[in-house]
Amino acid sequence: MNPMKIHSTIRPAAAVAFAVLGAAPLAAQQLPVPTPPAAMQLIKESELKSDLYYLASDAMRGREAGTLDEIRAAAWEAKRAQEAGLLPAGDDGTYFQWWNMQRTRLSPASEITVGSHTLVLWKDAAAMATMATAVDAPTVWAGDGSDTTIDVRGKVAVAQLVKPPANARKFEGVYSPEWHYATASIGAQGRALAERGAAAVILVADSIGDVAFDAVAANSSRGMYDVDDSATNAAGGRYGRRPSGPPVFLARRALLGALQASGQPAHIKLITETFDYPSVNVVAIARGSDPKLRHEYVLFSSHTDHDGVRFPMDGDSIWNGADDNASTSVAILAIGRAFAKHPGKRSALFVWHGAEERGLLGSRYHAVHPVVPLHDIVAVINGDLIGRNNPDTASLLGVQPPHRNSTDLVRIALEANAATGKFVLDSTWDRPTHPEGWYFRSDHVPYVRHGIPAVMYSTNLHVDYHTPRDEASRINYAKLKRMTDWMYETGWLVANAPHRPKVDPGFKLER
Ligand SMILES: [Zn+2]
Repeated sequence: MNPMKIHSTIRPAAAVAFAVLGAAPLAAQQLPVPTPPAAMQLIKESELKSDLYYLASDAMRGREAGTLDEIRAAAWEAKRAQEAGLLPAGDDGTYFQWWNMQRTRLSPASEITVGSHTLVLWKDAAAMATMATAVDAPTVWAGDGSDTTIDVRGKVAVAQLVKPPANARKFEGVYSPEWHYATASIGAQGRALAERGAAAVILVADSIGDVAFDAVAANSSRGMYDVDDSATNAAGGRYGRRPSGPPVFLARRALLGALQASGQPAHIKLITETFDYPSVNVVAIARGSDPKLRHEYVLFSSHTDHDGVRFPMDGDSIWNGADDNASTSVAILAIGRAFAKHPGKRSALFVWHGAEERGLLGSRYHAVHPVVPLHDIVAVINGDLIGRNNPDTASLLGVQPPHRNSTDLVRIALEANAATGKFVLDSTWDRPTHPEGWYFRSDHVPYVRHGIPAVMYSTNLHVDYHTPRDEASRINYAKLKRMTDWMYETGWLVANAPHRPKVDPGFKLER
């Protein structure tokens, strides 16, 4: 699941709000209850568990896109897809669809000096945005930023980081309390000093901000990732925001003495570098049995990547991504085993997308370079985080306007729930008013933008989301089996329906 990181000098990344939200059951008991095929028995809890322990093991090093670790995990998925009896659908008869990410980051050749002090990027100072800029101006000490009579216009404003304002959003789960404190403060203070006309802003960490320094630097130093889906993607649009405004830095607390004096000459030169790095979608097919319908495909979707090896929390530096999204990755392997043994009338296409965490890059790429004709993909059944939280509750997204793009597909998914998982559906996460914007943060979205019926299955956020604590030992495997059955049965019904699900007339994806 994508953290919806917002690349800006002044806005912190959006994260988790754990408001206790009521679960509004959708009336599943009023729907016809189909009988799932016997092949559903091929989906075994024990196999989901052993696959997940492997894919989310420390040996996989968190599967970060832009590293060999993602490619190692993709190779394992391809091997398991082959063992399941699925056919390769990728480049040159392989299970791999290769593509390039474009990564932009700040160059180590960037320069920051204040008076006689050289600040080493990421060691002494963390830049909050990936932007090329040059500033040569004197510093002015702005205290804690509260004295608005201090003239910072055209100068490098240096201020003490202080507690975030009371109205800053309360975050839990992602990263650490210190990280949220620091990013909320940097956002508020950076914005205020920028609005007062500062040419650059250096915020000197307080004791809490200093604890967060490595986390802030680790996140910012990765820079920005993109994929070129613009040429053929009129419906696409950009997912990230280009940074603007003056550069903002967090400096280590030990530099307070060196930076506090006003009137020092400051020299800032930020240089960006952009390069390509390979990522990969793993693609496999279970061929359908009906000669008239087998050219159409039900697409089962997951993502391979997670957040890799980062700063440690409680001594653990591997961000395993067991729920996010090894859970769905092993689920669609199991579904593939069932389809390979017992095909539907339509074919099933399985896609383990790359670089979802870097901005849905793999699905954006595949939606414009599909391995089968796009108009032959009749539905996308995407899952993201499907193995945690209350055993009886789950979410189906793409069900309520303005997110619902196919009433047909939603009806089938609800019938399938009645026949398999029998989950009480928490409708709150699909609402356009939900603070997390959950619907927009996974791989079904690019397909929806291209007019394909799509739903997403999720058991939603939890306090271990995007932390090293998202481990295989914390997954509820009985629940994962029921979620997998539900996705399987949905796809099975779609694969065998007389007509493909229709897109609702007038559907337009709006945020
Ligand atoms: Zn995620």
